[in-house]
Amino acid sequence: MCLTCRASEAFAAGATSRRNFLRSVGVAAAGLALAPSAFAKDTNKDTKTPPKPQNDIPPDEALRRLMKGNERYVEGVSRRHDFKTEREALVGGQNPYAGILSCADSRIAPEYAFDSGRGDLFVCRVAGNFANDDTIASLEYASAILSVPLILVLGHGACGAVSATIKSLKDNTTLPGHLPSLVSNLAPAVKATRDQPGDPLANAIRQNVIDNVAKLKSATPILKSAMEQGKLKIVGGIYRLVDGKVELIG
Ligand SMILES: [Zn+2]
Repeated sequence: MCLTCRASEAFAAGATSRRNFLRSVGVAAAGLALAPSAFAKDTNKDTKTPPKPQNDIPPDEALRRLMKGNERYVEGVSRRHDFKTEREALVGGQNPYAGILSCADSRIAPEYAFDSGRGDLFVCRVAGNFANDDTIASLEYASAILSVPLILVLGHGACGAVSATIKSLKDNTTLPGHLPSLVSNLAPAVKATRDQPGDPLANAIRQNVIDNVAKLKSATPILKSAMEQGKLKIVGGIYRLVDGKVELIG
């Protein structure tokens, strides 16, 4: 059952454990109507042992683990993942150690790039790796319900979505279909870097990551609160297409 279905059921059934959830995310604001009882099978919070105990780590350790995985991927020494055993262990829930906001580009593949198995990464993907209501809500779920200690916004070199935005703004043209939605979300980074020296595309890709890290850090009440309590770290990175190396940026 997907997140949306569970949430709908929760609203229908009523939020019986809401007080505990609000305490867990450190907010007492009215109007936050997620119902943790409906997510019990996802969270494992009521069980003693999460499906992946090795994922229950603090933010800095999660970042070190992520980057170690990237080193293995770059060096071509990725581990063999036991999908069969992991499948069985994850039937009853999940406790990923990082959330990733990545571009949809087929060359990126966060699970490969960080040499991670199933149940390790909570990945949201959209062309241009920007935070909108849907991706923020998904990452709020990852933080408040699954307790992920780390979120990485992952841009990449030669991003087609950013490149198309640069061209659309430069030529003052409107792209077909729903593509203008991408343009409007990526335009701030393109405009902010328009007069910078160097490669306009690389500059805009970097700025877009920086902007969306800032957006997630200021997302109230859930992500901002988790950060302030030291439960969550949010960072940005750029994936280099030529060798797969992820460079962390501010
Ligand atoms: Zn891209």
